[in-house]
Amino acid sequence: MQGLVPEEVLSGLEACDCHIHMKGSETVDSIERALDRAGLRGAVLFTPYPGLGTGHVMGVEEFRRSVEFGSRIQRGVEGRVAVFAFFEPRMSRDPGELRRLLEWALTDKELSGVKMIPAGWYPYEELLDPVYRLVDELGLPITFHCGISWAFPDSSRFCRPVYYEKLAAYPRPRFALAHICWPWVDEALAVAGKFLYAIARGDAEKCNLFIDITPGTPPLWRADALRKAVTYLGHRLLIYGSDCFGADNAECLCQHLELDLAVMKHLAGLDINTIRDIMGRNASRFLGKTLGA
Ligand SMILES: [Zn+2]
Repeated sequence: MQGLVPEEVLSGLEACDCHIHMKGSETVDSIERALDRAGLRGAVLFTPYPGLGTGHVMGVEEFRRSVEFGSRIQRGVEGRVAVFAFFEPRMSRDPGELRRLLEWALTDKELSGVKMIPAGWYPYEELLDPVYRLVDELGLPITFHCGISWAFPDSSRFCRPVYYEKLAAYPRPRFALAHICWPWVDEALAVAGKFLYAIARGDAEKCNLFIDITPGTPPLWRADALRKAVTYLGHRLLIYGSDCFGADNAECLCQHLELDLAVMKHLAGLDINTIRDIMGRNASRFLGKTLGA
């Protein structure tokens, strides 16, 4: 099918959208059609969070159903999508139970990573240690919301970039801070700068912090944020994401792709190699595998 993004723009991009929220009504077919139409080689899909944006806190049974759905989608769209378990630490006060729930999602159900939004908890809290240790053992990635969230009330209190400095203590999993932590872009880059030593050592594979450039940033700030990020961090740590709601929402996937390519190319003045790294190549290092290969 003819996509909305011109072929000549997409050719050689091998684009991977690393930040898509599933609604729970998608099918394997509807997702494949949307990815084809947007010209996306691969995608990271988050399992549905029931009542997202209403203040509802996901419970254990809802988490299980959401993981079962995500697991079916990942098996069906095999090799092209990585489904992350949207994990809610408030669903249990028992750290052991939290670990068991996540372990079931990542091993029995074979999900490819974890998505979390700090709300009512801070990313550096000890409650999270069993969770971080588990993903450390499994060597899987986590995407954290960072910055102001429209979906969770009062989340900005818990989503400041500096709270993620602790993640430097975990060498194996890869963490992504989403939205370039808007409006705390400079603070996000400062935190990410701390993780650069692996790259300075010539060991980019061991760098475990990524910046997910999903908006966030309003258009006027976006080119500036991307230019600053590339200037300071280089081109190896940034991954592309749309934040679209619905993994079969082709219009949204296409619009974000077109808009971001235009901003990167024409407003931020990034060269094509940098754009290719951001749009696709870096995702493979973040995920520990290449989608759609
Ligand atoms: Zn999101």
